Amino acid sequence: MATTPPAPRRKPKPEITRIGERQLKPATLMMGFGYDPTLSEGALKPPIFLTSTFAFPSAAEGKRFFEGITGQRPGGAEGLVYSRFNGPNQEILEDRLAVWDGAEDSLVFSSGMSAIATLLLASCGQGDVIVHSGPLYAATEDFIARTLSRFGIGYVDFPAGATQSEIAAALDQGKALAAEQGGRVAMIYLESPANPTNALVDIEAVAAARNELAPDAPIAIDNTFLGPLWQRPLDHGADVVVYSLTKYAGGHSDLVAGGLSGSRRWMDPIRMLRNTMGTILDPNTSWMLLRSLETLELRMTRAGENAAKVCAFLAGHPKVEDLGYLGMITDPRQEDIHARHCSGAGSTFSLFIKGGEAESFRFLDALKIAKLAVSLGGTETLASHPASMTHLSVPTERRSALGITDNLVRISVGIEDPDDLIADFGQALDAA
Ligand SMILES: *Cc1c(COP(=O)(O)O)cnc(C)c1O
Repeated sequence: MATTPPAPRRKPKPEITRIGERQLKPATLMMGFGYDPTLSEGALKPPIFLTSTFAFPSAAEGKRFFEGITGQRPGGAEGLVYSRFNGPNQEILEDRLAVWDGAEDSLVFSSGMSAIATLLLASCGQGDVIVHSGPLYAATEDFIARTLSRFGIGYVDFPAGATQSEIAAALDQGKALAAEQGGRVAMIYLESPANPTNALVDIEAVAAARNELAPDAPIAIDNTFLGPLWQRPLDHGADVVVYSLTKYAGGHSDLVAGGLSGSRRWMDPIRMLRNTMGTILDPNTSWMLLRSLETLELRMTRAGENAAKVCAFLAGHPKVEDLGYLGMITDPRQEDIHARHCSGAGSTFSLFIKGGEAESFRFLDALKIAKLAVSLGGTETLASHPASMTHLSVPTERRSALGITDNLVRISVGIEDPDDLIADFGQALDAA
């Protein structure tokens, strides 16, 4: 031990996170947190570190760094080793991503799906059961139902709006299945709001049921639709927050990335598997995300304001049957969850047009500003038709059970001028 040198100081210490008693806000920290310009020739912005490997200061330090890579030392490597494990751009991004959720640690991945796949593979073994809310993002649901099931991992689901006793019943069912298979309930996986229905999951009710029935099972939640600005699930009892950073965090529809945030206890084993599989994000995309996070609050705030104006217009339009917008919830239980968990209504919603597929397609084809594309959370407004696009592979029966009807159009409002958007939606509805 005496030959082990002290850990090098790669990151600025101490970080400036407060002024006097005042804790600095994420919007402020996004400009500098986690980066020390003096380590990069004074460059105000972090350079992109295009290197596959890193030179060790000494053999002893190389050994010490590897103890972090292999998990002999918790919390990740203390130094830079190899770009499948870590890198400066990725580490700065992870530090800043963690700030938004008040998490101890974050990990970034090559896509939202590689984050989800690594999370589930790191947490579940043969015989185990995942208890999850439904619906989930189609590829997540597919990964659980088709891929993990091949390795003897089972699942039980409950509807997004479920009450605490309904969630408890699903957990009991999961425990019974796990006992049969010789495993345990290894994870509770949520997505809220659910896509494309916008149904919210009561995280606090899930945590209460978990504490009673499966105290060792972590609660993970896909927070892509409202996070990180409008919902902070760790404050409500979740353990791991999941992001497709492709969406609001990236925010410009020009990159694909994923993230996980939570305490080291949960992040450490996931980092180990990421080291093995190589699902880490690349340096260039990490750098682009650092740029995106600087304007995250501005972009999301504007998009949210735009969505409120657009929805106020749509709600009064004679060709609109209904709106699935979190700013206009009618169900009292959903309203209660929204009031407890969320600080905004988001900018992604469902528009139910009077008619069916034909009317929806005419509406979509008539749009002039809004682009006809899947995805969400970008600066530009997008519109799509889930029944024939993102959810085409979902069996008709399950689709109607989830409320994915032929007259449902999914809209993600961007940061354009709101009155221009209203003019566009108005003329497209006239054409429907
Ligand atoms: C897009 C999305 C994902 C998948 O993310 P990718 O970055 O496309 O891999 C997962 N969950 C939700 C809710 C999404 O919208």
